[in-house]
Amino acid sequence: MRCPCHSGETYEACCSRYLQSIDGKRTAFPPTAEALMRSRFTAFALGDAAYLLATWHPETRPGALELDPDQQWFMLEILGTKDGGVFDTEGIVSFRAHYRSAANRKLRDALTETSSFVRQGRQWLYVAALEIS
Ligand SMILES: [Zn+2]
Repeated sequence: MRCPCHSGETYEACCSRYLQSIDGKRTAFPPTAEALMRSRFTAFALGDAAYLLATWHPETRPGALELDPDQQWFMLEILGTKDGGVFDTEGIVSFRAHYRSAANRKLRDALTETSSFVRQGRQWLYVAALEIS
């Protein structure tokens, strides 16, 4: 299957290795803030709340996360990035995430957001939305 993050790669070659963990421990880490953002979109698309919480900064992480099963995230566009590279510890990613209703696939909308990320050790973490439209 194609990776939900629309990288053009297969899921196996793309985000799957980041979503996998063994005994709750991550085995591979997205190297950039953009890669982390893509893997989080994939987690939204696949309903993997545990990965979303695990990649959320502890200071802004919600206690629990309930995903709406009717909300199908089906396409991601990366609009821009600032820093967030392999040698950075902070980064910003702007993206547009498209979703539709599972019950009525004609009902579609998109979320445009600019998010901040920090890297702690090998793990990039989502911090907060700086701007939502
Ligand atoms: Zn991917």
